[in-house]
Amino acid sequence: MPPPSSGPIFASDFSEEPYWWLDAPPRHIAPTPLPARVDVAIVGSGYTGLSSGLALARGGRNVLVLEAGVPGQGASTRNAGNVSRTLKWSFDGLAQRYGIERATAYYREAALAIEHLDHVIRSEQIDCLFKRTGRYYAAHSARAYEALGREVEMLRTRVGYEAEMVPRSAQRAHVGTDDYFGGQVVHGPGYLHGALYHRGLLDRALAAGVALAPHTRVTGILRDGAEFRVRTARGDVRARNVVLATNALTGRDGPIFEYMRRRLVPVRAYAVATAPVAPELIRAIVPGGRPIITSHKVVFHIQPTPDGTRLIYGGYAGRNDANLRTTAAKLHAHFVRPFPALGQVPIARCWDGYFAFTFDYLPHIGEHEGVHYFLGCCGTGIPLGSYLGNKLAKRILGQSESETAFDAIPFPTMPFYSGEPWFLPGIVRYYAARDALPV
Ligand SMILES: Cc1cc2nc3c(=O)[nH]c(=O)nc-3n(C[C@H](O)[C@H](O)[C@H](O)COP(=O)(O)OP(=O)(O)OC[C@H]3O[C@@H](n4cnc5c(N)ncnc54)[C@H](O)[C@@H]3O)c2cc1C
Repeated sequence: MPPPSSGPIFASDFSEEPYWWLDAPPRHIAPTPLPARVDVAIVGSGYTGLSSGLALARGGRNVLVLEAGVPGQGASTRNAGNVSRTLKWSFDGLAQRYGIERATAYYREAALAIEHLDHVIRSEQIDCLFKRTGRYYAAHSARAYEALGREVEMLRTRVGYEAEMVPRSAQRAHVGTDDYFGGQVVHGPGYLHGALYHRGLLDRALAAGVALAPHTRVTGILRDGAEFRVRTARGDVRARNVVLATNALTGRDGPIFEYMRRRLVPVRAYAVATAPVAPELIRAIVPGGRPIITSHKVVFHIQPTPDGTRLIYGGYAGRNDANLRTTAAKLHAHFVRPFPALGQVPIARCWDGYFAFTFDYLPHIGEHEGVHYFLGCCGTGIPLGSYLGNKLAKRILGQSESETAFDAIPFPTMPFYSGEPWFLPGIVRYYAARDALPV
């Protein structure tokens, strides 16, 4: 066995662009003159904005999606592709904080989000290599294994999840190391190609009649009688309804944006794609074929790419290294410990992006001063952005089934917080120290 980090760490063609952009590079659409008036103006062209726009256009509304840059330039083409049916909270933690009924309702809703995503991908025939393999939660300590064990029965009986515990002695069927303390298999989640999914949504939205204004930053949303005036550098647009779908990239663009910024914590996140690897090596590391997510508070994950040719891994969210090669090298070192064979596999890509946390770790959907929003995916925006973006559309269309368990949750902020998370490095260091405890 070669020594852990021997061999070249970086491929000769190493790039800092998301791996997904190899198959689905950002689409450059030339801006056209803005319409004077639309039924619905949507700010942001990620999964949330496009899911809303598609349903609204199909519901007969005249829709304009305004995007500060190129479509999907935010997290929606930069993620790791994991489709999770859990929330940032463990079920146990949620039940202790909010009571068992609400915990059950939130977790059921997270499961419904995956079913909705599955339905969209199938019915819209979006070729994004969605695989519902389930996922494996690897316990990073004996205590974490116990905690996973405590909640698995609740997940089964209350939420209807198919899930089972895997003792350390049997984990080799799921993960190619003895380093973890056992784990939990949850059936139903999966993974997909993040940018192909985004491209599919974009194509369907444009075909349904959604107009897209790229390179059009919204710089203000003002009430104007029964309507809104949406201010942009390229002129104003009047709209009967406005949807805010800007997530972690919500900027200083006027009072409504500022209100949301005070409630969102943008967290920098990273992912790595290896150079192409032999199928045997992938099977050796991920024998169960399911994404492996660790139970650390600041999670690590590793999974095959959806076409099975490489590995994707990630972690260290919230850190701010000097450059992406440094982060990539740290992630490589982290995963070479449990999987020494990775030491021989060069890193082809390392990219970053931002996802939005909230102070209560819950996603938030609602209406503020008449503006509809869904923000704060907390790292699970692939299913939640799609599902809750669609709910926003139903709400505007006055359709049934627009309610969700996430309605009417107060959207908390912190005193003196203005959207710059100065406290994040300290919190990340604290969690990293706690995660490293040998229990
Ligand atoms: C590295 C990384 C890994 C991740 N991994 C996963 C994962 O495995 N699974 C998962 O479910 N989620 C993951 N996420 C999170 C997930 O990608 C996001 O939650 C999701 O893409 C959010 O979609 P969205 O449409 O709400 O926001 P975004 O895709 O971020 O879109 C917001 C858009 O709004 C635009 N915008 C902002 N302000 C303005 C303005 N004033 N005017 C006009 N446009 C504006 C931005 O340019 C951007 O395009 C990850 C994120 C990152 C960064």
